[in-house]
Amino acid sequence: MFSITKSTESANSKNAAKPCCYRASCHADAGFCSDCGDPLVRCAAFDECGGLLDDDGCCSVCFSPELVLATQQFRQARVGDSVQIPLKLLNHSAVGRPVFVRGVWTRESGGPWIEAELAWQRVEAGQARELVVSAESIAKSGNHVVDIVIAIESRWQWRTETFAFSSSIRIDIADKKGDVIVNQNISTSAAGNQTGVTISSPVKIYNDDNSASQTDGVVEIQPLVRATVYDQVFGFRGTSNDFRVKRNAVFSWSGFSKTQTPAASAIVTHDGLLRFGRSRTKRQGGEGDVRILVNRNDGEVDVELSQAISREHFYLFIQNNRLQLRVVSPHGVTVDGKTIESGQVCSLKNGSKIHPLPSHPSRLELTTSFEIEHGNVVKVVVSKTQ
Ligand SMILES: [Zn+2]
Ligand SMILES: [Zn+2]
Repeated sequence: MFSITKSTESANSKNAAKPCCYRASCHADAGFCSDCGDPLVRCAAFDECGGLLDDDGCCSVCFSPELVLATQQFRQARVGDSVQIPLKLLNHSAVGRPVFVRGVWTRESGGPWIEAELAWQRVEAGQARELVVSAESIAKSGNHVVDIVIAIESRWQWRTETFAFSSSIRIDIADKKGDVIVNQNISTSAAGNQTGVTISSPVKIYNDDNSASQTDGVVEIQPLVRATVYDQVFGFRGTSNDFRVKRNAVFSWSGFSKTQTPAASAIVTHDGLLRFGRSRTKRQGGEGDVRILVNRNDGEVDVELSQAISREHFYLFIQNNRLQLRVVSPHGVTVDGKTIESGQVCSLKNGSKIHPLPSHPSRLELTTSFEIEHGNVVKVVVSKTQ
């Protein structure tokens, strides 16, 4: 008998945020857990999902995908031909957040990755979309493995996070003589998010010339899991310099007065943005996170030039394990000599120089320096010079 097994593990279980931190995050202003003291690293979509991020920066509320074999849709295929494997991607997001599939790749027996064709991107919460992957190498008896990588995105306003998830399908075909036919006429229900379900199906593999001598086989799909290794391989996350700026990287400040910045910590704002501008900071009773003003040579504030800084001038945030800057000021910002217009986003490097006032670069300059350990940026030092 051919059987299909379905796995039980959750796609997101890696170092998820603790219950105490979830309780603490209910207070919109809280930056740290009052129980364990950890920084509350919120999902960009926290206003909608209420999610905290795991070690990989993934929100388990927004990302709850499951990949199953689409039963009732296998077709008869002669072994030696390619076999089309119908799958369903389910979105179990409990808060109604859609996910978007950026691409699906498959590989057989360690061969090259081949991108599957997709006619859709968006998967609403509580819904499933179908996709088909090809297995070419089923001609021989034995153990066939089709690896699958799926790039899944969550979107929030103008922000996008992409994560690689992986699974594999194992197709065992017992020894046989001559051609075989995989008669894939599965009629059991594998739908939904039941866990621990093993589905025995009426799928049979049997010889072409002698259907009496049936052979046994197994189709098994592994759980869809986060696959950080493919984030890097496919370039979804991280930088070309081979390091990652994770969401729990600590930001510390140099050249600012104490009330002009938040305390040194991971970004703990409710939407994951650090707002730079002329506004007073939260420590000063304002709305901003980092106050940037222009100083004169004698150290006093240059009131006139500081007026050219918008109340919200730019944001710093971490997305896809990269440090990003988005310009809000209508006059643009210069980063490493390049003008970034209002609404545009650019990546910051170790040693990047930001000139908030492009026409007066010598009067206000910010530098981002990274402290890197084992490929992870553990600290971002933002220095202000003039
Ligand atoms: Zn806690
Ligand atoms: Zn979320």
